[in-house]
Amino acid sequence: MRTLRTVIICALVMATTIAGIGVAPAQNEINSSRLRQAVGVPGILQHLKELQEIADDHGDTRAAGTRGYAESVDYVVARLKKAGYKVTRQNFSFNAFVENSPAEFERVSPQPETYTEDDFLSMEYSGSGNVTATLVATNDILINPSPGGSTGGCEASDFPNATAGSIVLIQRGTCTFREKVDNAAAAGAVGVVIFNEGNDPGRTGVLGGTLSPPDEEADVPAVGTSFAVGEELFNLLQQGEVEVRIAVDAEVITTDSANVIADTKTGYKDRTIVVGAHLDSVPEGPGINDNGSGTAVVLEIAEEMARLKIKPENRVRFAFWGAEESGLIGSNFYVNSLSEQEFEQIALNLNFDMLGSPNYARFVYDGDGSATPDAGPDGSGLIEAVFNDFFASQNLATEPTAFDGRSDYRAFILAGIPAGGLFSGAEVAKTEAQEDVYGGVAGLAYDPCYHQACDTLVEKKQSDDVEAVDDAYGKNVVVGNVNRLSLEEMSDAAAHATLYFAETTDDITDAGARRAGARRQAQMDYIGPFAVR
Ligand SMILES: [Zn+2]
Repeated sequence: MRTLRTVIICALVMATTIAGIGVAPAQNEINSSRLRQAVGVPGILQHLKELQEIADDHGDTRAAGTRGYAESVDYVVARLKKAGYKVTRQNFSFNAFVENSPAEFERVSPQPETYTEDDFLSMEYSGSGNVTATLVATNDILINPSPGGSTGGCEASDFPNATAGSIVLIQRGTCTFREKVDNAAAAGAVGVVIFNEGNDPGRTGVLGGTLSPPDEEADVPAVGTSFAVGEELFNLLQQGEVEVRIAVDAEVITTDSANVIADTKTGYKDRTIVVGAHLDSVPEGPGINDNGSGTAVVLEIAEEMARLKIKPENRVRFAFWGAEESGLIGSNFYVNSLSEQEFEQIALNLNFDMLGSPNYARFVYDGDGSATPDAGPDGSGLIEAVFNDFFASQNLATEPTAFDGRSDYRAFILAGIPAGGLFSGAEVAKTEAQEDVYGGVAGLAYDPCYHQACDTLVEKKQSDDVEAVDDAYGKNVVVGNVNRLSLEEMSDAAAHATLYFAETTDDITDAGARRAGARRQAQMDYIGPFAVR
């Protein structure tokens, strides 16, 4: 088998180098089996149990700015120090959006109705106010059917004259929520309702979005709703006048937070591999899958590399990012705080955000952009190949996932640093074809508890959908809101890739000149993890 394999690999290398996309040279030289065996589900679950207990003790959340986050930092720092790492807390502060009371949204007339959190959510960085007004729709709403690619509220011309003094109904689509809300306010609206686009099963639910950047309050109160609520309001508007009320009571508070950084004692400093996972959760829940799973896997790899006395060729930097859920704040702060020399030392970034989704699939970031719109910087294709080759060697299928800017790799790729990583799926529904490959339940989200209180390790807090997935996988595979099979397979690949790049990077370090140019770009803008569009 090996010989055949080597021949195949060599043939592949030849083919792809000519084609210019990355295929990892001679993977069989990197034997990651010892590390993969050491990085196991029991250890990962133990870290998750600790993070769950921290959330239990602190209001069921580990969100940035909370005691739950501060104790998560203490936990990770203590474990890394115990494993022998030199650990740095990189402190930063940012403008956190804090609601003083739950938002309210109701239809005053016709047929009065008070909407619940199953119908709507306030937009992060929404303006505050309690406004009642007639509802006006932008003139570019596309439903029955909703084809996708909506540019709802992206241009001033989308807003009819009646917008002034009204609350405006806008469809989710291509431009950011901030652009829609700012355009509406500029047209004189006193409030905004953005409804989900309805063009994909994963874009029908309640819209939990952010108006950052900038991380400042918008001029008017804004809520996001499900497609169904938007469609209902739009249809009512075709029959006559509609009046609604929105109430948001929030403020923006400067919040302190921190990243945790730990370097291996050995390894070339100018070929530093940054292996990162965000440590914070959303305010709504303990964030055991998002992103306790990524945190636990990266922590486990760090501990086991130290315990096995692995002396990497290239310095490995384990990074636990803060305030990812508030706008990728920690990872962006890290990249923007690097000196020129420190910046040049970074060879690549591996990002692990959600590795244990109950209804999982094995997603690999599409570094070469072969299946999704955006390729990463040169070298990202190679990172993708290392993951795909590893999974292929385990006879495990994978799916490409886009660099859609919703996690911490974004600051790195904006700066021109190659990146990659793994993802087990969030709010989008699993397909029939994926059910055949990965098991679970088609039609349900990969993570039915994404960004919710039920993203927990506690069995009895499982949602109905997670229970259905639990039944589909059978006994003891799904624990609370994480899937052991996913953790097993994804942690193996994460350990393999970390070791691979810790030992061989000569394929990645290129194009220094191009990076300098892209870096200037990174300092201008970044987009948060909450849906921004
Ligand atoms: Zn996350």
